[in-house]
Amino acid sequence: MNTNQHHADPDCIFCKIIAGQIPCHKIHEDDHTLAFLDIGPISRGHILIIPKHHAATLAELPAEAAAACGAVMPKLAAAVQQATECPASNVLQNNGQLSGQAVFHVHFHIIPRYENGSGLNFQWPAGSLSDNDAAELKQTIISYL
Ligand code: AMP
Ligand code: ZN
Repeated sequence: MNTNQHHADPDCIFCKIIAGQIPCHKIHEDDHTLAFLDIGPISRGHILIIPKHHAATLAELPAEAAAACGAVMPKLAAAVQQATECPASNVLQNNGQLSGQAVFHVHFHIIPRYENGSGLNFQWPAGSLSDNDAAELKQTIISYL
């Protein structure tokens, strides 16, 4: 039951799922989070964990809502791992259209990975970091904390 009032967007599909207006294959629910099967799974066992507080991207999410998601992540990851016997998984969280985000309500994907390589497929083109850039970046990021 979702009896609490949460910050919601009436046009948001995930807020509608939280409100029970749209069905989902629910796996977990508590006062601050919901987890359900992804309707378009990248691989078998792909689930989403969402905060009940509506925020489009992670940078806009209150720390308490993020903490609630983090708190349930290990047990959900463990349950998916045991249920699917996947040898590996990724946690993915997209922010912004350029990242591939399609639903603008923060969500964390847990995506099982299998031996045959089916499912998630991404490049990891590691670059390099100069001492100068590191020093400048570090200071600038810290200045915004
Ligand atoms: P993203 O690209 O990170 O925004 O991912 C959005 C995810 O939400 C996709 O993997 C979709 O398959 C999933 N999705 C969209 N609508 C629903 C829905 N009604 N129930 C479950 N998953 C959904
Ligand atoms: Zn929402």
